Amino acid sequence: MTAQPLTDYSRMAVHTFTTKPWNLQQACENYASAGIPGITVWRNVIEDIGAEAAGAMIRKSGLEVAALCRGGFFPATDATQRQAAIDDNKLAIDQAAAIGAPMVVLVCGAVVGMPLEEARKQISDGIGACLDHARACNVQLAIEPLHPMYAADRSAVNTMGQARAICETLNDPLVGIALDVYHVWWDPDLSQEIKRAGEMGTLFAFHVCDWKPDTNHLLLDRGLMGEGCIDIRAIRSEVEAAGFRGWNEVEIFSQHHWEKEQRSWLSEIKRAYLDHV
Ligand code: ZN
Repeated sequence: MTAQPLTDYSRMAVHTFTTKPWNLQQACENYASAGIPGITVWRNVIEDIGAEAAGAMIRKSGLEVAALCRGGFFPATDATQRQAAIDDNKLAIDQAAAIGAPMVVLVCGAVVGMPLEEARKQISDGIGACLDHARACNVQLAIEPLHPMYAADRSAVNTMGQARAICETLNDPLVGIALDVYHVWWDPDLSQEIKRAGEMGTLFAFHVCDWKPDTNHLLLDRGLMGEGCIDIRAIRSEVEAAGFRGWNEVEIFSQHHWEKEQRSWLSEIKRAYLDHV
């Protein structure tokens, strides 16, 4: 059964990358004044000011942090680089703790020419190497499967099933999955995997946007909800039936939409959220 349309913004969060022209201060002020209660913070917006100051700024705005984006990029061809990735992920965990983010979202990584299976093994080992630190900081790690078009160089984890395999290997309550409709809407096993993630307690996050069949850029031309072909509400129904009660996070990389005046862009997002999520 399809879920009822959303009637308010109480579970809405926006990724800072969705309003890329804004710095963190502007994002906080504008989300809060638009009545959007949640924010997902990308690391680029805390680079200048540092995580402590960012945390103070966000707390002052009254926004709640859904997640920090992003960690990951574990696979590499030599041990030094692999260790550097693990260190960077531990730093991301520290930053998440400082800004009050319950989780770090992982874009797991891939290396051109490395067999995907080897990359997935390195990803699993890399996440495993961060677990003690994540536990000490009480921060979850959410594996985000990416669409297979990114398998060459961004992530060797391309389906919910592959993400589940890593969750099963590590078998730790801190390791779960961030489901982004953009990446997994096409997967014939999606419904089944959502159900299993619900049963396993690994459904950590839900990201929304839309897939434009006539996209002109694989990374920077995502659609606003309703601009493309994903039945977002049907997927929300399934994640909620599986027990998910977290944020509906709006994550849209779009050169086209970033060129707009960002306050009116945010109004469009709010309308699309009620109409299509
Ligand atoms: Zn996402």
